[in-house]
Amino acid sequence: MEYTGYDYPPYRPPSEAGSALLRIVRGCTWNKCAFCSMYKDLKFEQRRKEEIFWEIEHLREFFPTAKTVFLGDSNPLIHKDIVEIISYLREKNPWIERVTAYARARTIAKMREDKLKALKLAGLNRVHIGMESGDDEILKMIDKGATSEDLITAGRKAGRYFEVSYYYILGLGGMERSKRHAISSAKVVNEAKPNFLRVRTLTVIPNTPIERMVGDKITLLTPEKQLEELKLLVRNVEAKLYFTCDHVSNYLFHKNRPFFTGVHGMLPDERERMLEEIDITIDLVKNLEGVMNSNDLAKVGSIIL
Ligand code: SF4
Repeated sequence: MEYTGYDYPPYRPPSEAGSALLRIVRGCTWNKCAFCSMYKDLKFEQRRKEEIFWEIEHLREFFPTAKTVFLGDSNPLIHKDIVEIISYLREKNPWIERVTAYARARTIAKMREDKLKALKLAGLNRVHIGMESGDDEILKMIDKGATSEDLITAGRKAGRYFEVSYYYILGLGGMERSKRHAISSAKVVNEAKPNFLRVRTLTVIPNTPIERMVGDKITLLTPEKQLEELKLLVRNVEAKLYFTCDHVSNYLFHKNRPFFTGVHGMLPDERERMLEEIDITIDLVKNLEGVMNSNDLAKVGSIIL
């Protein structure tokens, strides 16, 4: 096949910054989550296997130093040839140490065990799943297309075959639902038992459905309330996992400089240290004028997510 130009997936998690990127599908099968703008202008399609195979054969030329591979876009495991594609990827690139992919919770919850097993045998190691919230009212409000039960089923099923990363959106329920958002999400995480829990803070992107909810159904969290919600989440997660705020949306700024970059560590072992860090930051925020979070910065155009 002739070279037609490498087709890069437009998004990947921060933890995949060093990975080779391989686009399996374009866009998102669901494309309805109220906070998300990622693939709104893109019609979902499965890429042709021949195109993907060409990129697999030339992967090293495009990513000469990568050791790991991330599969895009948002739900690549539904591609009809995904097992064959991952097998070919591994066969042609023996340098690969890890293959990861985004996956929708409901897709995994419905997937047959023999398919999950085949994906593992082909060489898939880790899935990134957007939980966002474990609270059914919030999941419905943001049109996640998954229930807390789906999230628990997906985590348990995926965990039998792969490492699992779950994502939580701090502030997604607004001030109105902050406590139940944190507590219900911790309950789901405790049942689903992912290996990683990664936090993003809700940052409202213009022209997304959630923008219309702000000021009506949702009151955005202040920096102090954001920290209170984070604290509640850290306090209630009992599952053994690595907890991280590995995204700039979690940062707090003073005079445009970040002074809080989230908390990171193993739960439950490092819980007390993490809670202490949050408490120190809460005290700081109470006594400091002009602390800004990602939404404050987005309003003045100083941050683009
Ligand atoms: S958050 Fe994920 S599942 Fe939801 S619309 Fe965006 S890409 Fe699709």
